[in-house]
Amino acid sequence: MFPNPPLFPASPGRRPPRLSVVVPCYNEEAVLEQTHCRLTAACRVSAGDDYEIVYVDDGSRDTTWTLLDRLASEDAHVVALSLSRNFGHQLALSGGLSVARGERILMIDADLQDPPELLADMMQRMDAGADVVYGLRTEREGETAFKKSSAQWFYRTLNRLTDVPIPQNVGDFRLINRRVLDALLAMPEQHRFVRGLIAWLGFHQEALPYVRHARAAGETKYPLRRMLRLAADAITGFSVRPLRVSILFAGISFAVALAISLYALLAWLGGNTARGWTSLIIIVALFSGVQLLCLGIMGEYLGRMFMELKRRPLFVFRELKTRGGPGASAPE
Ligand code: UDP
Ligand code: MG
Repeated sequence: MFPNPPLFPASPGRRPPRLSVVVPCYNEEAVLEQTHCRLTAACRVSAGDDYEIVYVDDGSRDTTWTLLDRLASEDAHVVALSLSRNFGHQLALSGGLSVARGERILMIDADLQDPPELLADMMQRMDAGADVVYGLRTEREGETAFKKSSAQWFYRTLNRLTDVPIPQNVGDFRLINRRVLDALLAMPEQHRFVRGLIAWLGFHQEALPYVRHARAAGETKYPLRRMLRLAADAITGFSVRPLRVSILFAGISFAVALAISLYALLAWLGGNTARGWTSLIIIVALFSGVQLLCLGIMGEYLGRMFMELKRRPLFVFRELKTRGGPGASAPE
């Protein structure tokens, strides 16, 4: 669980709402009001009056917090939360998720690139048994060719490196149920790539294809630097294969070292070498091979320690059914 103090007072006796929407916001003053209108309309269609919208201000430098503060005082469905500084999209999202109380939770960006109106479809699919309904981008409008192609390349590499298939063309726009959220919050790792963590969890996941629009207003908060950081979090969070590369190099260099040593020995037997050359070559070749091999072995242990340190649960239960549970009377 997150070590956060209980910031949000859990009011006893208050039933959890049917739906929570979690919206990370960083310098989103230009769209927030529009976002709130559309989100509210979508929530009313799907959950009547029984919903909450959790806005997380991720240390914005514009008037985002003033706007959120006002929304919270005007609309009882709004929970406005502000982080002490800019922690980044994934952590802002995680912070919002940690206070969401709903039975179902929608994650959506503040910029209306993902249409809130899809919520109704997502709810239907969840009614039919899905635990996670994620939006699958069939088209991305208003995004640069660079962003599109880098995203495609990134997901292809990621999937080659990891054992958990992480769906391509999928962002954090998704509806999850309480079961999935509780399992997600029980993963205490620091570097959070939320969509990867949810893929890792399993459960019954369904894709909902949609067209991703251009931002309603404002500009992207994901410059190249942040995209690279997200990519690094994703790869190191789900794969130790890059560490294994050293074992591969070690194997190759060891084989080369043996071949060079053999050649040096044969040349020495042939008698046409300078004094000291043979022993020098053999020592250098073999020792550098051994060094790389040792590094490779350390890499293996380091990779295991790294994965171990994440303290992820070993497994996640989806359901448990029995006629007689703990404390139940013996079945007749
Ligand atoms: N965001 C955030 N903190 C950040 C950067 C972004 O909370 O440090 C929010 C942002 O307000 C938006 C969402 O994360 O709601 C996605 O960001 P953006 O739309 O800029 O990313 P893009 O869609 O361009 O990948
Ligand atoms: Mg966006």
